[in-house]
Formats: sequence, structure tokens, C-alpha cells
Amino acid sequence: MPTKKPAQKKASKAKTGTPKPSFNFNTHMTVEGIKSSILNHLKFTLARDTGTATQRDWWISTCHAVHDRILERFIRTMGEHNDQNVRRVYYLSLEYLMGRMMRNNVWNAGLYDITKQALAELDLSLEELEELEEDMGLGNGGLGRLAACFLDSLATLEYPAVGYGIYYEFGMFRQKFENNEQVERPDSWRKFGCPWEIVRPEYTKTVRLYGRVEMRFDSLGNPAPVWSDTVEVNGLPYDIPISGYNVGTVNFLRLWEARSSQDFDFDVFNEGGYIEAVQDKAEAETISKVLYPNDNSESGKELRLVQQYFFVSCSIQDIIRRWRKLNSDWDSFPEKATIQLNDTHPAITVAELMRILVDEEGLEWDRAWDITREVCNYTNHTLLPEALERWSVPLFEKVLPRHLQIIFEINRRFLEDEVEAKWPGDDGMKEKLSLVEEGNPQMLRMAYLSVVGSGYVNGVAAMHTELLKKDLFPEFNALYPGKIQNKTNGITPRRWLLASNPDLGALITETIGDGWASDLDKLRALEPHAKKAKFREKFRAIKHANKVALAKLVWSECGIEISPDAIFDVQIKRLHEYKRQHLNLLHILHLYRKLLQDPNFDMHPRVFIFGAKAAPGYAMAKTIIRAINAVAAKINNDERIGGKLKVVFMPNYRVTLAESLIPAADVSEQISTAGKEASGTGNMKFALNGALTIGTLDGANVEILEEVGDDNIFIFGLNVDEVQALWNGGYNPYDRYFNDENLRAIVDWIGSNFFTPDHPDALVPIKDSLLDGGDPYLVLEDFAAYVEAQERVDKAYRDQDNWTRMAILNTARVGKFSSDRTIHQYAEEIWKLTPVKVSMNGDPV
Ligand SMILES: *Cc1c(COP(=O)(O)O)cnc(C)c1O
Repeated sequence: MPTKKPAQKKASKAKTGTPKPSFNFNTHMTVEGIKSSILNHLKFTLARDTGTATQRDWWISTCHAVHDRILERFIRTMGEHNDQNVRRVYYLSLEYLMGRMMRNNVWNAGLYDITKQALAELDLSLEELEELEEDMGLGNGGLGRLAACFLDSLATLEYPAVGYGIYYEFGMFRQKFENNEQVERPDSWRKFGCPWEIVRPEYTKTVRLYGRVEMRFDSLGNPAPVWSDTVEVNGLPYDIPISGYNVGTVNFLRLWEARSSQDFDFDVFNEGGYIEAVQDKAEAETISKVLYPNDNSESGKELRLVQQYFFVSCSIQDIIRRWRKLNSDWDSFPEKATIQLNDTHPAITVAELMRILVDEEGLEWDRAWDITREVCNYTNHTLLPEALERWSVPLFEKVLPRHLQIIFEINRRFLEDEVEAKWPGDDGMKEKLSLVEEGNPQMLRMAYLSVVGSGYVNGVAAMHTELLKKDLFPEFNALYPGKIQNKTNGITPRRWLLASNPDLGALITETIGDGWASDLDKLRALEPHAKKAKFREKFRAIKHANKVALAKLVWSECGIEISPDAIFDVQIKRLHEYKRQHLNLLHILHLYRKLLQDPNFDMHPRVFIFGAKAAPGYAMAKTIIRAINAVAAKINNDERIGGKLKVVFMPNYRVTLAESLIPAADVSEQISTAGKEASGTGNMKFALNGALTIGTLDGANVEILEEVGDDNIFIFGLNVDEVQALWNGGYNPYDRYFNDENLRAIVDWIGSNFFTPDHPDALVPIKDSLLDGGDPYLVLEDFAAYVEAQERVDKAYRDQDNWTRMAILNTARVGKFSSDRTIHQYAEEIWKLTPVKVSMNGDPV
């Protein structure tokens, strides 16, 4: 066991409060200040002169100039938090889908205008330089983007918070299309370095893995298990500062990179095994190499489990180190720290905290358990069975033998004490609720471990939370009344309106004043303006300009010409059968057939735009991508339909692409099978930017409907009760197929070789899944209702004035979906956290 350092108590107030000699670092918030900073970094950080500097050199210098100004506040924030020995929330997430950092940073730190001006004076364009930044794409989709929005809101609301995760060398793969098929390329996003990172070797942590547990006894004869013969790997932290909007608070995201624990294994080295020694080192470092690209499905791979434990162990050690600087009695630990587990990916936290408290700190089990349960909270993100994490017991035992024992002990006490007390003698209930699922092999149910080991559990939209209580965790809800709460997701209006749709932001500010970007309910003040022709005119002009800009991008990226006068109908999200991109595709085929059979078929021209990555191992998702691309190629080159219909599949969907697509969208496709999408957040981004939703009563769509009103949204299809009833009554997709001649033609069409003449049967799996496969996502069932809803969309769009009125009312009424509201609720109802003021400029607050 490592020898403990004597507890250091510091009067940190005196330490940070004593003025040091001050130097005149030039971090002035002026055009001149930024400009001289850029030139300074060009010369002294990059060793370049202005004559030979490339665009990238200018870009990196500008990042550093902006970063310097954020760091002033960062240091002040850390000082204030330390001085006040604050309570913090620790957000543990395996994913952070941050996107580009520059634009958000300049907006949040109030540097947009002066940075733009400083660059203009250097004959450079901020917009052009921004294009050089790679997305920080360390996440798959909604879950990772939620974590990023939460960090923005935590800083903006001035809550002391640290995000923890992994510093992947390769984030979400880059997607290309070759012969209509998805191909994956590695995302080497740090090839030219990341100007926002601060490496902190002094906080390196050591993580142990594998080995075995020896049962020893302490001097009093008590069992004292010892985890030995472990393999060690180091975690090196990189901090990414997170600037709040219009406030002094700058929090940080701490991401761990795996490093081998020794530079050389000297024994191997001495035997002449130089290469082998270095190879071992490389193996340890694979832990943080790459993000697993599965969204809403588990991988079950050993490396993934190692990643999870690696980042959990580094983070918990770091949390305890920070706590120990100013505190010593373990009773104060839950007063100073609260941990949020983003899904079950960091669920090992429960066992790791118990191991540290019991094995290393010598606490009694019961006391350790009380502390653990008080500190941890768990967010559930899905009901999909394939996404619920379970680890095989033999694999878990191999990687984390001591943690397995601890989980078995947690389970024994849970079943014998809590379950037995509530349902005496009910062995069926014990088997049902056990953290260990019987079978060959046994499996650990990580969601159950998270529920049992947490103080609070939350779902991510009202409907999702109800289903959690009713279907996934009904017994836990009975056992722990009040433990399961709802926290409807949100999005940050800074990135998703202010920075990505600046013209709309300016119009809003000009109309209702500023302040809305950090108090989104203020948008309600736009409602009366929806009645004013002049305002509608301006709103429509901005949407049109955004569509023109997108049309340019589509031309340059895809070589497809689209008209900004057409309806831009957008479905962007991960490719998943439950999200039903193939329902959208069937409707496109429906329109295509109509146009072929009647060239005068009356429809407003429409462009269907897709963006979606499929998990590399998800065959059906890849087939759907191929189908959309194949249909697009046919339709876009068919002279007969007079350009009324276009289909665009933009490759490499990511945050940056979302930022250009959403401001230009007229229609937002949110068409998942009811009961399958936990919340969705794309739906919120679109509504905020004045796109009208066509959607099912699923996830947060239900709450969007409540806010915008049923005149301003296009709802269709089965609701969740009807879905359940249909399955209970026995659903046969062939009934829909045989009873609807049009639908039958479309399904047969896609199953034919019409769209893939060179690849016979390539699209057959789609047809098979819809028919013999039982149509698990009820595509055929909802088809007719979807077509009807799309006809309502078409009709509504022709009344441009009324459409614009509806769009304005969407923007005006979705203030609820600010992640500020979400974070405020977490802080009040789960974290019991209070904001801490930090000076913006060094003056007293
Ligand atoms: C918002 C967002 C998502 C989540 O979209 P949903 O439609 O809610 O699934 C996924 N990926 C990116 C890049 C996003 O910005």
C-alpha cells in the first residue's frame, strides 16, 4: 500500500490572497491587445515571422491570444474555488462531443468583435481561420453533445464543476462515401496539436489492472484482501478550459491520456529486448487511442472495460487529492463532492470508491457505503436493451478481480437486507433484481449497480422517466421512492443560436434586447412580433440567407445543386433503425413515384438532407446509408421530375456540420418509433432556430409540442401506448404491405435492383427486415400517417406568411430547452450546489 503523505492543511486564503509582484502581461481586452498578442505568439510560440506565416500559423496564434485571456479568468476561478473550499460537481463521461472551440470561446468570453477586428487589421478573416480547426469529436452523438452543453451551462451559471473523460487520440471516425457506401477513416484531430489544452504532468495518476486478490489478515485477525501482481498504467491529464458566457467563471474539462508507467522495463532492456520493452509501452498507451464508435449499443470488449476503469480510477484519485488539500475527515467528503455518472459507462465508480474507502482508507463497509451512495448519481440515457451495459463476470474478474468481489458483496447485502426486507422470502424477486444475471457466463448488470449505488437516478425527458419507472426499474422505484427523477435535456443557446446563427441572434437582440442568451425564457417576448409583417420579413430573410449559404456548402461538398426556394427538410442524427431514416426514405420514394407517374403532381419543391454515421459493425445501418445514397443518385439525375425533388446525404456529420445545417432548415425530422428515443436534443436545436418539427410523440418531442402548441408542429403516428397495444395484439407487417398497393410497390422497389443495378440484392436486407423481420420499428405501420403529415407540411409551407409565423413561435416558445434550465434543476434537486461568483476582470465582485 502506498505510504500516505501527512494530511496537509493549508490556509490557502493567505496563499492566493497575498498580492504577488504584478507584471504587465498583455491580456488587454482590446483590439490592440489581441493584435499584439497574436503577433507575439506567431513569433515566440511558433517561431514564425509575418512574411512566412501560413494560414494555420495565424490560426494557432489567434487561438493562443484568445486562450491567454480565458486563462486569466481560469486562474482566478480556481483561486476563488480553493479559497472558499467549495462544493463541486464532478461530471464523469466517456464522451464529450465539443465540436470546434474557437467561436464558442470568443462569444462566451466577450472577445468576438475585437478578435474579428484585430484579424481584419492583419488582413485576415476570422471565418476563414475558423475553418482550419478540427472538431473535438470525442463522442458519438447525443450523449456526448449533452455533456458538452452541460459544461457550457455549468460555467455560465457559475457552478464549481469539473468534467472528467478520456483524451482520445482518435475521436469519432471521419466518414466518406465510396460507391454509396460508408467508409471510415481515422480522425487524427490533434495532428497539428490542440491549442486549447494545458498538460498537467504534476497530476499524473497510476492505475492498476489485472492481477489477483490475496486474502491476508491484518494484525487484529480481520480479513484484509490485497490486490497484487497488477499491471500499472499512468494517466496524464490535459485540461481544456471552459468559459462561461458573460461571467468570470472558467471551469475545466480534465481528460486523461494513457502513458506507460515505465519508460523502460530494465530487465527486458538488459536482455537486449529493447524493441519488446518499447512495444509494451505502446500497448499501455492504446487505452486512450480511440473512441468506441457505438451509439446506443454496447461493445462488450475488454479494451472498452479497461478504458472505463482507467478514466474512473484517475478521476476518483484526482477528486480525492483535491478534497484532501483542504479537508481530512471523510464525513466531509460528501459535503465537498458530488459525482454525476453520464450513463453506466463510469458505473465502476461505485466499486472503485468502495475499494479506496474500505481497502485503502480502512473505513467500515457501512460507512463507506453511505458515503458512496451519497456522492454518486446516475443518468440513464436509454431503454434499448442492446444499449444496457452488461459485463461478463469472467472478463470482469480478469481485469478487475478486487472490484468483482466488491460488487458481489454489494449485491449480497442489497439482496439480503434491502430486497429481503421489502419482499420477504421472494427468491424470484432476488433473482430479478440481482446485480448478477445468472447464465453462462454470468453477467454484471451495470444499470442495476448504478441504481443501487446512487443517491439519485434520472431520466432525460418526462416520457422517458415515466417509462424508466414503469418498465425498466419498477421494482427499484418501489424500493426507493423518490430516487428516480426527471431532468429533461437541454442545449446551450450560446453555441446553438448565438454563435451558429449570428444574424438571427442579432435580430432577436435588436427586437427584445440582450440577456436572452443566458435567460432563454426571455424569447417569449418575441411572440407578439410574430404578428408583425415587418418582423416576419426579417426573420424570413435570415432563414433564406442561411439556406443560400447551405446551398453553397452542398454544392462544394457534394456537387449537388439545390434551390433555396425549396423546402429544406433535414434529418441529421446517428443512423439507427429506431430513428427510422428508412421511413423518411420510403416517403421520398413515395414522392418520386408520384412525380414519375404524374409530372404535374402538385408539390412544393423539396430537398431532403441527411447526415448520419453508422457504427462500423451495424450492418443494417450501413445498408440504409447505401440505400439513401443510391436513391439520391437516381433522383438527383432524373431529368423527368423537373428538380422538384432532391436528396442530399452530406458526409461526415459532426457538430460543425450541424451548425451550418440547423440554421438553414425548414423542417426537422424527429420520427423515431414512440418509446425508443429517450429525449433527443437535435429536435431542440432545430425548433430554437425556427424549423418546424415533423415528429412522433417520443422523447422530448412531447414537451416541445407542449411548449409550441399543436398548431406549430406536425405530429403523426402511434403513441407509446398504441405501440405497446399493437405488440400485445400481435403485429403483422404483411397486413400493411398487402392492404396498401402504394406501400407494397415502394417496399418492392427498394428490394429490387432498380437502385443498385451493379450490386444485386444490396438493399434486400431492408425489405426483409420490414417484412419477414417483423418490422421491429413499425415503419410500415406508421407509413400512411407519415405521408399524411408530410402533406400537411407541404400545404402549410405554401402559406409563407403563416409558415414564418409558426417558425417564429417555435423560436419564441422553446426557452425551456436551454441546458441552463436543465443544469439549474440538477443543481437544485440532485447536486445541492450553489453558484460561486468570480470576478470578470480582477475587480472585486
Ligand atoms: C445534437 C447532436 C446529436 C444528437 O442528435 P439527436 O437528433 O438528438 O439524436 C448528434 N450528433 C451531433 C453532432 C449533434 O450536434
